[in-house]
Amino acid sequence: MEGLRLEIVTPDKVVLQADVDYVGAPGVDGEFGVLAGHIPLLAALSIGGMYYRQGVQTRWAFVSGGFAEVADNKVTVLAEAAELADEIDVDRAQQAYERAKARLEEQRPETDIMRAQFAMRRALGRISTASR
Ligand code: ATP
Repeated sequence: MEGLRLEIVTPDKVVLQADVDYVGAPGVDGEFGVLAGHIPLLAALSIGGMYYRQGVQTRWAFVSGGFAEVADNKVTVLAEAAELADEIDVDRAQQAYERAKARLEEQRPETDIMRAQFAMRRALGRISTASR
């Protein structure tokens, strides 16, 4: 049977290289799934949890922006930031959430609202992925 390879990389590190059976990822247009034999694809990624199946196991990782490329039975995720679920520091994400929330509530004119909203989405995405 054809196999599927998954690589998750960021500008800093290789987060994962693994043989998998299935990959589910958060595209900007919605979640998409990849099995072996998938046609070539380039998809922009949203912020959130992605998962991969190995036999009966399903494992999660958090990805923040970037792209997923599918070609020749290989899924390459090039993310701005990514962590495996069990590498996520939940306290740190909780603090990032509180900071972003306070910034948005203060409503100061100099606040970069989009930046705070993205920080909040990353924090919430990490918290929910860590609990998978
Ligand atoms: P923070 O404000 O806590 O730095 P952030 O959302 O601004 O959060 P990013 O810019 O997305 O952080 O990521 C910077 C680096 O820190 C990346 O290498 C990312 O993998 C890592 N990182 C960020 N938050 C966490 C976390 N809660 N647990 C583990 N690694 C994290």
